[in-house]
Amino acid sequence: MDKKPKIVILGAGYGGMMTATRLLKANVHQDAEITLVNKHNYHYQTTWLHEPAAGTLHHDKTRMRIENVLDLNKIDFVKDAVKEIKTEDKKVILEGGELDYDYLVIGLGSEPETFGIPGVKEHAYSIRSVNSVRQIREHIEYMFASYNNEVEKHEDKLTFVVAGAGFTGIEFVGELSERIPELCEEYDIARDKVKIYSVEAAPTALPGFDEELVEYAMNLLESRGVEFLIETPIKEVKEDGVLLNDGSEIKSRTVVWTTGVRGSSVVENSGFETMRGRVKVEKDLRAPGYDDVFIIGDCALIINEEINRPYPPTAQIAIQQSYTCANNLKSLIQGKEEHLETFKPEIKGTVASLGGKEAIGIVGERKLYGGSASAMKKIIDNRYLYLLGGMPLVLKKGKLNIF
Ligand SMILES: Cc1cc2nc3c(=O)[nH]c(=O)nc-3n(C[C@H](O)[C@H](O)[C@H](O)COP(=O)(O)OP(=O)(O)OC[C@H]3O[C@@H](n4cnc5c(N)ncnc54)[C@H](O)[C@@H]3O)c2cc1C
Repeated sequence: MDKKPKIVILGAGYGGMMTATRLLKANVHQDAEITLVNKHNYHYQTTWLHEPAAGTLHHDKTRMRIENVLDLNKIDFVKDAVKEIKTEDKKVILEGGELDYDYLVIGLGSEPETFGIPGVKEHAYSIRSVNSVRQIREHIEYMFASYNNEVEKHEDKLTFVVAGAGFTGIEFVGELSERIPELCEEYDIARDKVKIYSVEAAPTALPGFDEELVEYAMNLLESRGVEFLIETPIKEVKEDGVLLNDGSEIKSRTVVWTTGVRGSSVVENSGFETMRGRVKVEKDLRAPGYDDVFIIGDCALIINEEINRPYPPTAQIAIQQSYTCANNLKSLIQGKEEHLETFKPEIKGTVASLGGKEAIGIVGERKLYGGSASAMKKIIDNRYLYLLGGMPLVLKKGKLNIF
């Protein structure tokens, strides 16, 4: 009997998990050996991470063990970190071994974009993984606890700088502005001692978003005590705060860096041609020049032809790509290359949470504010869980207090 072809999926994020789910649904495991590799034995919802980072949601709510979602009798799971891909040898080098593949799916997600600004890697926190956000939450609490216990007060312990007022930065600031009053009460600290700065280099917060919605978000966050510094590039992050381009400084022990992402460095370091770590993939989602390598999610670059600019990397696109990727893998396994599908993103809308029961968004042609946007955000989050694991997963991990 011929050996079954091997499909190896790298990364159990939105793209990787959903590709695995779709392959199992299409019974591709009957004709191919499927292996999923991830550095943790759990899948986490990156789009929720601003909440545990601020401490408004327990981090366990955002993650689920992979064995509880995928049938590991049908797919192999390898818990290991990917170091490099050797495309010529069709091998993946892991920290603890190596894997051969016939078809590879790369869904390793992203890394913070520092733009080469000094001190970011050394002194700033980032919202990237369950462990990174646990560190942020614990650090914030420690700042409150230690401020209270010192004789000579250090105000910089209560000053929080969020670099970048894009989607992630605003969502985090929203949660933080909800959490701060609770921390003030818990640690007996007056609210006016605490400062939250949202620092943005571009001429507006949430660049690219509808102006009315941006105004709503900024007014709301300002009413919760957030100070916006717009058109204010950061020159350097230091141990004791940030240095701005105009030479002034904000003293802070907590700088959270949210100025965008670049694709996984594994992709860049494995010889693929990249732009900010992302590979401009072919219409069928394969890497140019590689018939056996699909790249999806934040590692893939897709051009929005209407405006001739790349689509921003989103979970929405990663999930949609997983459908095309799984269908195309199935066609290749069956030897039906002529059936390969073209990926076309269908942007259904964007909703940004602002903490509590507040959010803003555009769904279809409609602008949403406040409670209705917040409810829509939870419906979107639950929908993903439904696609991944059906109603049982929604009931276990979903956001059920929608209104
Ligand atoms: C706070 C926040 C809010 C967001 N909100 C939204 C939103 O509302 N809507 C939206 O559409 N998008 C949102 N995004 C963007 C979205 O989260 C990403 O676009 C999406 O997660 C990309 O999916 P992915 O499958 O490419 O990667 P990820 O979901 O990031 O998954 C990558 C996986 O690969 C694993 N991995 C990484 N490196 C290695 C390695 N070397 N070896 C082994 N495993 C590895 C990681 O552990 C992870 O499991 C948000 C992002 C953030 C940070």
